[in-house]
Amino acid sequence: MSIPHDLTSLTAPEARDLLVRRDISATELARAVLDRIAQVEPVIHSFITVSENEALAQAKAADAALGAGDPASTPELTGIPVALKDLFCTNGVQTTAGSRILEGFIPPYDATVVARLRQAGAVFVGKANMDEFAMGSSTENSGYHVTRNPWDPTRVPGGSSGGSATAVSAGEALLSLGTDTGGSIRQPAALTSVAGLKPTYGRVSRYGVVAFASSLDQVGPFSIGVEGSAMILRAIAGVDPLDGTTANIEVPDYRATIRDGVRGLRVGVPAEYFVAGMEPDVERLVRTAIDELARLGAIIKPVSLPYSTHGLATYYIIAPAEASSNLARYNGTRFGLAALDEADMNRAMDSARERGFGAEPKRRIMLGTYALSSGYYDAYYRKAQQVRTLIKADFDNAFHDVDVIASPVSPTVAFPIGARVDDPLAMYLSDVCTIPVNVAGLPGISIPCGFDGQGLPVGLQLIGRAFDEATLFRAAWAYENATGWHQKRPPLTLAGAAS
Ligand code: GLN
Repeated sequence: MSIPHDLTSLTAPEARDLLVRRDISATELARAVLDRIAQVEPVIHSFITVSENEALAQAKAADAALGAGDPASTPELTGIPVALKDLFCTNGVQTTAGSRILEGFIPPYDATVVARLRQAGAVFVGKANMDEFAMGSSTENSGYHVTRNPWDPTRVPGGSSGGSATAVSAGEALLSLGTDTGGSIRQPAALTSVAGLKPTYGRVSRYGVVAFASSLDQVGPFSIGVEGSAMILRAIAGVDPLDGTTANIEVPDYRATIRDGVRGLRVGVPAEYFVAGMEPDVERLVRTAIDELARLGAIIKPVSLPYSTHGLATYYIIAPAEASSNLARYNGTRFGLAALDEADMNRAMDSARERGFGAEPKRRIMLGTYALSSGYYDAYYRKAQQVRTLIKADFDNAFHDVDVIASPVSPTVAFPIGARVDDPLAMYLSDVCTIPVNVAGLPGISIPCGFDGQGLPVGLQLIGRAFDEATLFRAAWAYENATGWHQKRPPLTLAGAAS
């Protein structure tokens, strides 16, 4: 391939090829990405921290590795610029989880995924903005600033991994990592027209990842074109002795099968996921995408997932319950914000929590504490766990007949900034199609499938069997290769856009 004028428009596999051929250097690529960050950040605000010096040092090391012997034998991510959601512990670099309560917290160690990316040669360009403790669907709940959608800076990028999505969408990184507890990778991927994968629960280590809801949280990638996500997933996935929930199941070479096509693949379409209130353009584009899969040789079948309609209700008991427990550790005594002006210890802890947490974590702590309290535990928490089993059983049933399930990601396109901040329920509805997948622990991917009448992106969700990310990559690649939606980049008219 020829070298494009703007290196930030490269996909990760394209950059890998050019780096291995030594047509470009990791330093040139890092410089181009950092310049792009300087250019677009005043409008998009993808990052809480940009780590320019660290990135340039890692790029220099990558160039040394590429120059030392056969460049093709270097790890696959050598010299590839990556953005990290600001809840992955990064040794020596501030990690806030989007919360003021963790402002100034500098972890003394790397999350397993960060350590694995370092080993794979990645270049870290910065820590991406997010909803506080990953609670939200718009990145407006960040304790720092609002991130804007590159397709229309007056609109949200989705969330909670909004900064990780926009960093890739706007060319501020070639790859990024986010987390998805109820949709936080797939929904922002859909709203910004990039690929975003939530792996199977247990596929990727959560060690060193700031916890929101531990039975649901999962780490996953964003990329332009799904092949980049396949590259980075391979680097981070697999059993980790530091996270007892990781599965000792072999991590396949996803790229080796990604071009195998969808002929004969059975794709289920659940009626329940075409929910009331869905925007007509979203439904039309998702149905057209499913037709395209059929044209490529897939066999389309209706499937039924009736308990998924209880997904939101189940999630909004389990996730806040786990959050209320996970967030108990933030009391100003060990991490971040401390209320040193208070005379007694209990007041100091209360004060740190009062000042450090924003409205959404406080709301979740109250919901979760209530659901777990004596007298309500059976009515809410235990009941939610029972429904969780039923939601999962629906998927198990459906996967007897089909290999993949196709659905919308979000019932709407990106909404205007501010439109849902005063209405938590409207915000929670953003994840009606993504949450059941987390509740069942399954892998799901969002890929671009077109644009609505206003030019705003829409995503197609493909859901797979547990640990079968390979089939998702294969179906997603076949679709994007046939349609080319992933190649459309946001126009980003920077002049005149508000900051
Ligand atoms: N939007 C959902 C919530 O607010 C999901 C967030 C996530 O996946 N982290 O909880």
